[in-house]
Amino acid sequence: MQTNQVDVAVIGAGIVGLAHALTAAKQGLKVVVFERNSYAIGASVRNFGMIWPIGQPTGLLRERALKSREIWQETAQEAGFYLDTCGSLHLAYREDEMAVLEEFVATTGGDNIALLTPEEVAEKSQVVVTQGLLGALWSSTEMTVDPREAIAKIPILLKDKYQVQFCFNRVVTSISYPDIQAGEEIWKAERIFICSGSDFETLYPSLHQQSGMTKVKLQMMRTSPQNWRLGPSLCGGLTLTHYSAFAHCQSLAALKARIESETPHFCQWHIHVLMSQNELGELILGDSHEYGMTLDPFDRHFINQYVLDYLKGFANIPNLEIAETWHGIYAKIPGKTEFIANPEPGVTIVNGLGGAGMTLSFGLANDRV
Ligand SMILES: Cc1cc2nc3c(=O)[nH]c(=O)nc-3n(C[C@H](O)[C@H](O)[C@H](O)COP(=O)(O)OP(=O)(O)OC[C@H]3O[C@@H](n4cnc5c(N)ncnc54)[C@H](O)[C@@H]3O)c2cc1C
Repeated sequence: MQTNQVDVAVIGAGIVGLAHALTAAKQGLKVVVFERNSYAIGASVRNFGMIWPIGQPTGLLRERALKSREIWQETAQEAGFYLDTCGSLHLAYREDEMAVLEEFVATTGGDNIALLTPEEVAEKSQVVVTQGLLGALWSSTEMTVDPREAIAKIPILLKDKYQVQFCFNRVVTSISYPDIQAGEEIWKAERIFICSGSDFETLYPSLHQQSGMTKVKLQMMRTSPQNWRLGPSLCGGLTLTHYSAFAHCQSLAALKARIESETPHFCQWHIHVLMSQNELGELILGDSHEYGMTLDPFDRHFINQYVLDYLKGFANIPNLEIAETWHGIYAKIPGKTEFIANPEPGVTIVNGLGGAGMTLSFGLANDRV
């Protein structure tokens, strides 16, 4: 039986694992990454590719998102993948949505955000529906990557520039510090990071179970390539009820109550609608949220229809032909922003980043490794 010794071992080649591997490798440490599949196919390649600091509350999480943003930019440059500093627009068509945006801007401040008039919105985006538009929140900090490209190219950068070893097609089945059982091999590591995403039944399952962690399924769509550029990523009033950045706004209660009474299906399926665009010109659309340890493997067409109908209320898309649909699953402890645990000295679980893993992982790893 072969034995290998490293400074840092990472389990999982999704964004959380890659962020920890990058941070450790930059410190000159000898790093190995184990990944169950021949390439990562989990939540990290199934998302919008949005780096979304505007969704994080001011303080530690916003700072972490902004640190991640910086690292994403450096990494995109080094690894040679697409990254667009496109910013975002939250569009308001109802008085209660506008009230939240106004309160948010008044209570948040900062020169990266501004309230725009419909005319100013039209200058930033050619597809926004301006009829009935009251205004929008512009934020300059949001960016998009194509997650399929980024999550494939970061390992190449890590191998070529930082001599990180990757063991793909290798499941880690048990850990007893400092030993790691990876397929037929035993590895030894000074520090072990478990970044296994929605697979939290394999390693230290009872610890995960005690944490209250659950799984969340999100339905997504991608259009055929468009021959025009979206500019800022777009969303509407539903998104104000989704991200904790807006939670402190007193005006949010009235908006939530109106959505609940007019359109309860959005609340039932936890739908809010976001749209980003990748380098190929494809639009990425979503999403819904279903919670549970065993999630229905079948996607619901009517959920995608709800998303498309809402989208049409704020964007005029000339060709909304859907090329691909899929769902992604992430791990989340309701009410918590991450799950960090030390099942034994030298071993750290980093999981449960929920819907913000692309936004927060680099900053989180930077704080912890
Ligand atoms: C549809 C959708 C849209 C989203 N949109 C956004 C967005 O736009 N912006 C944003 O910030 N966040 C977004 N998120 C959230 C973000 O994608 C996740 O928080 C993040 O990808 C989680 O990363 P991860 O590395 O923990 O998990 P994963 O990407 O699932 O990676 C875990 C990896 O570990 C491997 N693994 C597990 N167990 C083992 C084992 N025992 N041995 C070896 N390998 C193992 C798995 O094979 C997997 O590749 C979205 C999520 C979804 C599902």
